[in-house]
Amino acid sequence: MQYLSTRGHVPATGFQQTILTGLAADGGLLVPKDIPQVAERLEAWSKLSYADLAYEVLSLFADIPEGDLRRMIAQSYQAFRRPDVAPMVTVGDLHILELFHGPTLAFKDIALQLLGNLFEYALKRTGRKMNILAATSGDTGSAAIYGVRGREHIQIFVMHPEGRISSTQERQMTSVLDQNVFNIAIRGSFDDCQNIMKSIFRDVGFKERMSLGAVNSVNWARILAQIVYYFYGGLKLMREKGSSSVQFAVPTGNFGNIMAGFYARQMGLPIKRLILATNENDILARFFNTGVYERGSVVQTVSPSMDIQVASNFERYLYYKVGKDSRLLSEMMQRFEAGGAITCPLREGAVDPLFVAGCGSTGEVCSAIARYYKQYNYLLDPHTAVGVVVAERYIAEEAPVLCLATAHPAKFPETIKRAVGQDVARHEMLDKLAGAPTRCVVLPAEEKAVREYLVQHIT
Ligand SMILES: *Cc1c(COP(=O)(O)O)cnc(C)c1O
Repeated sequence: MQYLSTRGHVPATGFQQTILTGLAADGGLLVPKDIPQVAERLEAWSKLSYADLAYEVLSLFADIPEGDLRRMIAQSYQAFRRPDVAPMVTVGDLHILELFHGPTLAFKDIALQLLGNLFEYALKRTGRKMNILAATSGDTGSAAIYGVRGREHIQIFVMHPEGRISSTQERQMTSVLDQNVFNIAIRGSFDDCQNIMKSIFRDVGFKERMSLGAVNSVNWARILAQIVYYFYGGLKLMREKGSSSVQFAVPTGNFGNIMAGFYARQMGLPIKRLILATNENDILARFFNTGVYERGSVVQTVSPSMDIQVASNFERYLYYKVGKDSRLLSEMMQRFEAGGAITCPLREGAVDPLFVAGCGSTGEVCSAIARYYKQYNYLLDPHTAVGVVVAERYIAEEAPVLCLATAHPAKFPETIKRAVGQDVARHEMLDKLAGAPTRCVVLPAEEKAVREYLVQHIT
């Protein structure tokens, strides 16, 4: 498979180059040249294990020999505590696909475990090394660290704002003592971390000298890995319900998770609707309801991994929305960057009949957590609860709804305690971290200090 930039100014690249590149040199996102059609294979796919299905999906997009690809998939998903990787449970009228059984208890493990293996494979073949620089406000950092810890050809440097992420999330990162893992607490905000990272990446000379790479959610491999569970969960639920289509409810921040659902639909999975759920940071919900994509300011909520205004993967969706017209898309992105808003025309009152979108408020989220715990003895994490709150508005429709559960509730014990009045969200893996030794360096919120640290530690 060849990949193109949404902005149209770089030559087509192969799969391995695409994943090592991340963001295209023209500022665009890399997309597959064609979308494979799989409708007549769904019957057979509905009988496959997670790993075998992952092979079928990935092999359509990745130019990697079968034995190598199967081995990497097996390695990626044996780190999950459930043999079926993404089990489905039924809770009241809802069906929930649990994507949080990986090593850091968040759905990002599904993509980042695979990304670590793919990186190492591509690097080994080119004899290159990669130094990943990342900024995190929570889940991404630990999932990325667990994806590459102990690997020979990769070092990872993760910045987080000192004292401003939850102590659980901090310990998940700093308790990883592998030689290739470097945790940096920045004396500043998450924005400071991100600005330092962006500024360093803009210095192309430094980036190349230091072989810097990124793992952020625009990386195609992350989307690709996520397409698998739409087929896995969707086919399973359709079979169980004898239904000819399915809806997905997706707690959304950077639009990466739901973008994978969009691809699954384009490939031929009969998705009736993608239910896009946001917290109070509702730029995407507003877009799908009004056609106006307009930046607001970020507010802090109980679902911090969705406290995002500008969704980095949204450009991929817009690219298809404008009929793959790179010139028009570039114009729109420039207009957005300059004026903070773009507009899409509405058709029959909607931007896109495939999507419905809504916002789950903090109050609604906390009462949903309490309600599901009391009625069904099932604990929703605050992100999953945003999806559930919005999904409940569409339950009476003709196709069953599958809610994607993106984190284990034990990652957010304070919110759970506030919602249900008891400290019930526990996980033995997180309890074990309590007394574990940690390693982390503290640096001022200055680009110079981070650069010096990189130069000193990159071997
Ligand atoms: C990252 C994350 C999300 C948002 O996913 P996007 O792909 O950014 O839309 C939702 N929930 C949790 C727990 C996350 O870590």
